Amino acid sequence: MLQIETILCRAGIMDNYAYLLIDEASRISAIIDPSEAAPIIKRCQELNTRPSYILNTHHHFDHTDSNLELKQLYHAQVVGHSADAHRIPGLDIALSDGDTFRLGDSQAQIISVDGHTIGHILWYFAQDKALFTGDMLFNLCVGGLFEGNISQMWHSVQKIKALPDDTLFYPGHEYTLHGAQEALYFSHNSPDVLAYLRLAQNRLQQGLPAGPFTLGEEKKCNPYLSADSEAEFARRLGA
Ligand SMILES: [Zn+2]
Repeated sequence: MLQIETILCRAGIMDNYAYLLIDEASRISAIIDPSEAAPIIKRCQELNTRPSYILNTHHHFDHTDSNLELKQLYHAQVVGHSADAHRIPGLDIALSDGDTFRLGDSQAQIISVDGHTIGHILWYFAQDKALFTGDMLFNLCVGGLFEGNISQMWHSVQKIKALPDDTLFYPGHEYTLHGAQEALYFSHNSPDVLAYLRLAQNRLQQGLPAGPFTLGEEKKCNPYLSADSEAEFARRLGA
């Protein structure tokens, strides 16, 4: 089993989330998308762990900015997509779509999702029902198209929709309230979206992340996952 700790980084700037994953059997740990070292180091000290790996979802600086500092501090290996080998700082292990990665007794599958960038990946721990989505999928919205096109993004969304409904997903930013307006608009204020927002706002008011939510909830409430054709998806993206 995997222990998952959410760490808010760059708070109030871009509200990034890094994640500390600890394989409970072996105590081997990893950090996903370190954008600010201080809060991550603090949490690792509190939990008495030294991450062996840094796992990146994509190359953007607000997901990789602390790769080198943490790599040096913990003698960690940096893992990312082979397509990003030239632009993820300190990359040691390059993986491709469909590859698996072992973290002690836990195992992740790499799912390639072009769109936000070319070379963006999801880290999917099927046994733990946990999906780390970087800037591909946020609560109630999806990432912007920086490098890919709409067809690529649509194809990537279908890969997420094919995963089990009881999977919890962990995004790269706290953007729930950004996504709320469009989710309400496109769903005509559906009871499902209103219930989702009530739960998210409740957690945020307690100083917690809005999530995690299940993919089942997201498929119902996220207007980009509920779009039933590529044309409708493109319309909703405003393309
Ligand atoms: Zn990004």
